[in-house]
Amino acid sequence: MPADAEIIRADGHMIAPGFVDLQVNGGGGVLLNNDPSLAGIETICRAHAQFGTTALLPTLITDRPEVVKQAVAAGREAHAAAVPGFLGLHLEGPHLALARKGTHDPALIRPMETADCDFLVENAGAFGVALITVAPESVQRQQVARLCEAGYTVSLGHTGTGCASAGEYRMAGASMATHLFNAMSPLNHREPGLVGAVLSDGGLSCGLIADGYHVDPVAMGIALRAKKGPGRIFLVTDAMSVTGTDMESFTLNGRTICRSEGRLTLADGTLAGADTDMLTCVINCHKVLGVPLEEALRMASLYPADAVNARHKGRLEQASDADFVLLSEDLQLAATYIGGARVFSAA
Ligand SMILES: [Zn+2]
Repeated sequence: MPADAEIIRADGHMIAPGFVDLQVNGGGGVLLNNDPSLAGIETICRAHAQFGTTALLPTLITDRPEVVKQAVAAGREAHAAAVPGFLGLHLEGPHLALARKGTHDPALIRPMETADCDFLVENAGAFGVALITVAPESVQRQQVARLCEAGYTVSLGHTGTGCASAGEYRMAGASMATHLFNAMSPLNHREPGLVGAVLSDGGLSCGLIADGYHVDPVAMGIALRAKKGPGRIFLVTDAMSVTGTDMESFTLNGRTICRSEGRLTLADGTLAGADTDMLTCVINCHKVLGVPLEEALRMASLYPADAVNARHKGRLEQASDADFVLLSEDLQLAATYIGGARVFSAA
């Protein structure tokens, strides 16, 4: 311990690693798709620090090529400026499967072309952690291999791909699946789908939206008991711009998304991201699913950090970043620290 270290009295609070969220579309009134800028990223990171998140990947939902380029440029700036809480970018789309589009605009979903792959490879490493969600229907295995070699974590999602095909993409380098159960082929007894591949392949980790609406608690419990390691199920919020605000609606690719009773939906009722935050997901996991608190905290910190190979995040040990939260016994957030600096205090 340095002799001049500041002493902070935790007053009986628990100290836990700060939360790591690999899927954050927005927060604080900003949606990355609508404001792909340094200022937009700063607002999103600040908003989620109020809920204990100390490292996140601003996530771009399927959009036009120029918006992807703007988001990557903003990510480069945020990485260079070491914005507190910014870990890198998650590009969710546009190379997905139309049949599993979810809230993604079908007019903007398209196969990955060589120029797309070149652009991604050229920018690898320039914006920190690089995560991309792709569907085998729109991306070739050689492209996945090329992205992995360049340093991307490739996640399979928004896909109807079968279990065997998922295994082939796993061999090409894919190591993750995006929001387990949602927008993917389900586990059927004759075709175990991507859900079956994720649960039975220890080389795959996956995000889970534990807001209570995206996946039924019974299915969440089954998945947690079935998951083969070392790959883990970790928590993601899939949060939109409304997190940390009292906004009642917003737009995505020109379509209105409404907020009501804990859900965000398009006009046809399709779930469009989640109206939640990481602390709420941890509490749901612990109180609704009965996951021990220590494990629920690991699902929000250690496991996502490891899934993108961010070994300096998600843990409290020598040489890791001083990103941590203070929690009361009843799991209220008292303070959030990023890099040893307090960025949020409930007091
Ligand atoms: Zn999605």
